[in-house]
Amino acid sequence: MKDRALSELRTEYESQRALNRDEERRRLEQASALDPEIGRLTESRRRLFQDNAREAFANPTKARDISGSLADELQSIARNIRGRLIAAGLPEDYLQPVYRCPICRDFGYVGEPIHEMCDCMKRRVYAKLCHDPGLGIAAEENFGAWDAGVFDPAPLPEEPRGQRAYMIRARALCERFANSFPNNEKHNLLFTGASGLGKTYLLNCIAQRVLERGYTPWKLTAYELMGILRDSYFERGDPQRAQLVLDTQLLIIDDLGTEPIQENLTIPQLFHVFNERRNRRLSTIVSTNLAPTEIQARYTERLASRLLDQRTTIFLKFIGKDVRLNLSE
Ligand SMILES: [Zn+2]
Repeated sequence: MKDRALSELRTEYESQRALNRDEERRRLEQASALDPEIGRLTESRRRLFQDNAREAFANPTKARDISGSLADELQSIARNIRGRLIAAGLPEDYLQPVYRCPICRDFGYVGEPIHEMCDCMKRRVYAKLCHDPGLGIAAEENFGAWDAGVFDPAPLPEEPRGQRAYMIRARALCERFANSFPNNEKHNLLFTGASGLGKTYLLNCIAQRVLERGYTPWKLTAYELMGILRDSYFERGDPQRAQLVLDTQLLIIDDLGTEPIQENLTIPQLFHVFNERRNRRLSTIVSTNLAPTEIQARYTERLASRLLDQRTTIFLKFIGKDVRLNLSE
């Protein structure tokens, strides 16, 4: 799955580089039409460069002197071009190389001799993976479509507000979180409360907003997550998916507590995920039907201390009546 996304992206980057060259040519033609001297200077700079490269190659001992005087000459041509561009009413950097990403110049990879994927490429890989069916981000569930009307406005027993007022506040908190991602004061969110109170919908809203903002969320159920971790433990399946669990900028785990617990596997693996992501300051959002005491009982004190850490986690308790029941009434 990741391989296909990668090869699609390599093709996309290649055509982006071709578009960049086209744009450079178009700009040069435009500038030369306004001031033909700009075209001549650009051409002489190119030739100067080429001839010197040839000479340096043929005579390496002289190469240093050449490069000194060449640099002066190139600089003076560049100054001349800049001045002419401004006089023609164009930006002075108009004929600089064109690219979308200044780090990899649209090659998608950085580093010599070791090639590493550029962040711009990583973001696109993840975005592609997240849009793949089965990766859980429902585009139609977003903050704009979120409807307070499905929640009961009547006051709740032993609560200062009704469910609707409560949910409006929850939505605002989630939207703030998604808008300031990844610079949140607290990196993690924990949704608790029974099924049918709108937790999953808000998770989707956050995922969608974060994705729109160019980051890489991945939402999956605890059941799916354990499947991936189990496969990786037994060295089957796609190892890149297990790596993505650790690498994705925002991991969203829905329905924690509904997955089966496998002895010596579930808890150490989950601990590894939460611990690793915490060390790398990557955000994790968890929704669960379990109360904090139940989390401790099910997942050990050690894992619970990661999940329930108030210094890094915002807690959001969902209360009230099952919205799905309301809808069918
Ligand atoms: Zn890049």
